[in-house]
Amino acid sequence: MNPLKAIALNVSAPLFISLFFASLAFNWIKIPETIFDLIPYLFYAISILILWVSWHFNRNKFIFIIIPLLLIYIGFEYFSAKRATNLFLYSSLLYPLHLLIFLILKERGLFSIWGIGKIIFFFFEIATVLYFIYYPNIDLIEFFKIKLFALSFYPLKDLSVAIGIFVSSMMVILVMFNRYLIYNSSFLMLVFTFYGGFYLLKTPHAIELSLLAMSIIIFILLIRESHRLAFYDELTSLPGRRALVEDMEKLGMKYSLSMIDIDHFKKFNDTYGHDTGDEVLKMVASRLADVGGGGKAYRYGGEEFVLLFPSKELIDAYTHTDILREIISKSPFNVRNKKQLKVIYINISSGVVQNNSKDKDPFAVMKRADDALYKAKKAGRNKVIKA
Ligand code: GH3
Ligand code: MG
Ligand code: MG
Repeated sequence: MNPLKAIALNVSAPLFISLFFASLAFNWIKIPETIFDLIPYLFYAISILILWVSWHFNRNKFIFIIIPLLLIYIGFEYFSAKRATNLFLYSSLLYPLHLLIFLILKERGLFSIWGIGKIIFFFFEIATVLYFIYYPNIDLIEFFKIKLFALSFYPLKDLSVAIGIFVSSMMVILVMFNRYLIYNSSFLMLVFTFYGGFYLLKTPHAIELSLLAMSIIIFILLIRESHRLAFYDELTSLPGRRALVEDMEKLGMKYSLSMIDIDHFKKFNDTYGHDTGDEVLKMVASRLADVGGGGKAYRYGGEEFVLLFPSKELIDAYTHTDILREIISKSPFNVRNKKQLKVIYINISSGVVQNNSKDKDPFAVMKRADDALYKAKKAGRNKVIKA
């Protein structure tokens, strides 16, 4: 399960946006009308920005969720009352499911087989909704009005509410257990905001405000995703070398650092295969991520990691690195070799340093850590050596 602190942190930003816009909707009477006149401009501007950025970053998930939102907005703005009512019904049934589907589908190139499949599905959805808006089918609409609950959620239909409960529950499970927390938490809040706006249909501007809030939540998710792409390592989810360089530039007068390297990893790869090697990297990374003493773990590259201990003495860094060395050396790892299951153990070696006045820059400190690491290897591996 994901740590509660991480869940709270990830849910709070989109939740705050949603609540802020909800409070605008509830207090509409006190707010000058000119503020609300800005909504369409803001909404269109943010949507276009999302399309542009996601196209450039190759994150087509965002394209597939913002276009229907744009169409819904335009529909409410320009459709006749009757058509808008049907749009309300169909989008309240379909859009949350659409969000769930595109949350789960993996990010793939737009022009790969999967990408083209998504595009076809996407146009089919939109064409179907448009068809039923222009040529309403009474039987279908009657079916969608089916009564499921004793309570009424007017103007939402019971079926929409049931779909909402299903989609939200699925997303709550993903928020709790799936590792893509930034996506799952934002999508969950998108569903809440969407239903919130639709439920408040009779409150002036509520739907527009909810759609605007959703576009802002999507935009912030996109920015955070671009940040993650730049600073985090895909395989291990640890911050990468670029994050390390940035963090080192922000260090204070005193800090310590450990350079870590997995022992005989090349031989391991050659014996058990590269994929098993990747699993080992993930295992080691997850142990290192739990480093104590205020340290932070980075994947420096390949099978090398760095632990950074801001404002810590050499001895503290040494102690916490050695604890990790021991934990890792005692963690059993299951591998399959020539169809036989085997338990093996992985070792790491490390060189630890504290900065001093002779170090010209953080990279000089890293060089000394690297020298100490070399000594640890020379001394027989599975060791931590102080520079
Ligand atoms: P030593 O104990 O001296 O560190 O020996 P070693 O074999 O670990 O040393 P070396 O640095 O020569 O080997 C590193 C190997 O790590 C080479 C490469 O096959 C492997 N490696 C680097 N990056 C990855 C990766 O992302 N995945 C996998 N599976 N292997 C990687
Ligand atoms: Mg190495
Ligand atoms: Mg190595």
